[in-house]
Amino acid sequence: MEYISTRANHQPVSAGEAIRLGMVPGGGLFVPQSFPAYQPAAGQGANWSYDQLARDILGLYLTDYDPAALAAMVDAAYYGGQFDAGIAPVVPVGENAILELWHGPTAAFKDMALQLTPRLLTAAVAQSGQEQETVILVATSGDTGKAALEGFKNVPGIKIIVFYPAQGVSPIQELQMRVTDGDNTYVAAVEGNFDDCQTAVKQLFADAALEAKLAAAGKRFSSANSINWGRLLPQIVYYYYGYGQMVSQGLVEPGRPIDVVVPTGNFGNILAAYYAQRMGLPLGRLVCASNRNNVLTEAIASGHYNSRRPFYKTTSPSMDILISSNFERFLFEMLDRDGQACAGLYQQLAATGAFACPQAQARWEGLLWGGCASEEEGAAAIAQTWKQHHYLLDPHTAVAVAVAQQYRQQQEAAPLLIVSTASPFKFPRAALSALGADTSGPEGALCDRLSQVTGWPVHPALQGVEQKPLRHHARIPREGIGAYVEEVLGLR
Ligand SMILES: *Cc1c(COP(=O)(O)O)cnc(C)c1O
Repeated sequence: MEYISTRANHQPVSAGEAIRLGMVPGGGLFVPQSFPAYQPAAGQGANWSYDQLARDILGLYLTDYDPAALAAMVDAAYYGGQFDAGIAPVVPVGENAILELWHGPTAAFKDMALQLTPRLLTAAVAQSGQEQETVILVATSGDTGKAALEGFKNVPGIKIIVFYPAQGVSPIQELQMRVTDGDNTYVAAVEGNFDDCQTAVKQLFADAALEAKLAAAGKRFSSANSINWGRLLPQIVYYYYGYGQMVSQGLVEPGRPIDVVVPTGNFGNILAAYYAQRMGLPLGRLVCASNRNNVLTEAIASGHYNSRRPFYKTTSPSMDILISSNFERFLFEMLDRDGQACAGLYQQLAATGAFACPQAQARWEGLLWGGCASEEEGAAAIAQTWKQHHYLLDPHTAVAVAVAQQYRQQQEAAPLLIVSTASPFKFPRAALSALGADTSGPEGALCDRLSQVTGWPVHPALQGVEQKPLRHHARIPREGIGAYVEEVLGLR
């Protein structure tokens, strides 16, 4: 399987090369040349194991990797004690089924991929025979940062540098990142928002002069964001796994479609659902749930992507995004893989902050549905779900639940699988506030209080995080990201 650029500006590369590069030098994202059909051998859902699904799906796309090595990576990523037993359990909550993706080491769904990505990357570097140090640049809206730090820390041949918006992540998310140990980890708070971080990082990737300087020093950039194929691919697996559990729990007839509702920021998670659908998993509609930053809701309905709008900080910070990177990969498909057309739209986005794609919009109608929830609607979903079902939602999942409600009211829905992306203990203030409980006092105390109020145990990844020493202190202006990277790498 080879990988091509969404902007028709690169020759096809192997999977290993796509993962090693992270994104297309000069802009654009790598996508697989085709989507292999996949039907798990073990019946129609009831016996699908995570392990087998992951090995099969990775194998179909990573044809230049040794299957035995892939199996060992899957085993080490998901069965080495990082995840509790269910890995990604489906829990029925009222008329919805919730796919819990936060049972990993940092309590957010990013772990599902990022326990594997570093293994895929180091194998690709080894295979390339180049003795280069790989420098992972990460822009994070909160959860990717910590998950990537945990995945990449102390991995030989790698340095990881994480940028997060100084006021744009939750206090617990910030603490989680700043206490990270490891001799190859760097974390900087940026005075700006997530889009500033992401745009700056993408510019560094596209900077040819810097690339030459890095090469001379024996280094090369790569990415742990969902622009990297090695981060996106593992996410296809849990849609199959979730479907299989819905079948085994009697929530859907084998082979019948389900709709999925995904709380969306960078469009990576929902894109993985789309890819699963292309491979033959019976997913009906993909419902894209946004918070008050509803650029995607508008784009999906109108075909007009307009990032020139106010940026709101919300209680679901991982979705506070105006430029959803992976929408480009989806758009590429809706444009019938016309890379020139896709490049044109993204040049327009870079120049003007907006583009219109009415023909593509006509293609996704019936496939993609968008909705958004206000802060109040999100909080109401937390309160209502708790009251009715004694199930505790985090504020991101709450946005999805609120949008699922709108969706049911407006459309004929198949059985719904709602993707839950974070443990509520990552956002205790929002959860307590929605439940009408006391939110005074330090953040660490809020986790324990949320546990007392609900009887839910604090997620193991978050126990005692406020007692750990802070190891990272950098704070930089948004124009300073390039200089910071050069300083860390000793290039200036
Ligand atoms: C990253 C994240 C999202 C958004 O996922 P994308 O793949 O960027 O769309 C949603 N919720 C949480 C908790 C996240 O960490």
